[in-house]
Amino acid sequence: GAQQLPPKAPLNEKSKVRHVIAVVSGKGGVGKSMVTALMAVKARQAGYQTAILDADITGPSIPKAFGIKGHATGDAEHLYPAISRTGVEVMSMNLLLEKTTDPVVWRGPIISNTVTQFWSTVVWGEVEYMFVDMPPGTGDVPLTVFQSLPIDGIIVVASPQEQVAMIVEKSITMAKLMQVPVLALVENMSYFKCPDCGKVHHIFGKSHAEEIAKKYGIGTYCQLPIDPDLATAVDAGEIEFVMEDGLDPIVEMLKQRTAE
Ligand code: ADP
Repeated sequence: GAQQLPPKAPLNEKSKVRHVIAVVSGKGGVGKSMVTALMAVKARQAGYQTAILDADITGPSIPKAFGIKGHATGDAEHLYPAISRTGVEVMSMNLLLEKTTDPVVWRGPIISNTVTQFWSTVVWGEVEYMFVDMPPGTGDVPLTVFQSLPIDGIIVVASPQEQVAMIVEKSITMAKLMQVPVLALVENMSYFKCPDCGKVHHIFGKSHAEEIAKKYGIGTYCQLPIDPDLATAVDAGEIEFVMEDGLDPIVEMLKQRTAE
């Protein structure tokens, strides 16, 4: 029951952000940022005010996917999120760097401080769903970031060539530690659909993600194909305009949760 949950981190009492969902992965390069961006886009299209807090401080790739360039505005106490063309609020290290090619080489504590600031100093709007692009992995850095945000639930992103069961187990351990539910499992780059003949190719072999989701009691599970159009859209800053409905089951689940 809800009364057993610890109080949320009292970081931003004036916050109008209602739900904070962390998007995690076992390692880099599996599409965590892409899924985070697409979730915010799809939930926005479903009628919710959405935001992205890019907590992947050392590899911030969210602004690029939305074609957001330039600097965040603000003063010493307030920082304003960038607003995408379709109204998604975004804050990322890349909006604060002089050059977006500058590497960020900070260690865990400074990373979590920055994320805390993103949460508390940024003037977020009346956001229904905030998606947090977490640092990759299930080690110290994501765990510290977890502790610095009032996270309500987790979406796990894995690719079929990984040991999905192990990643899910680690994510579940992390979620239990934080006393939040694993809401969904996304298997990214799951298959390839031939654009000419429509045939589906399971390049990395048969998927085990669905049975893993069932085994661990994760209620929502979905797949995204290897889609060159998706990669092109991310590169071109056009993530808001892609035709990809693979994350619809998660949006449906969020709708139901909001209705409850
Ligand atoms: P992560 O955040 O896990 O490091 P990214 O979201 O940055 O991974 O994705 C890594 C690269 O793979 C990006 O160039 C992205 O556009 C591409 N990519 C991710 N998912 C897909 C997909 N389903 N189809 C094609 N390209 C993808």
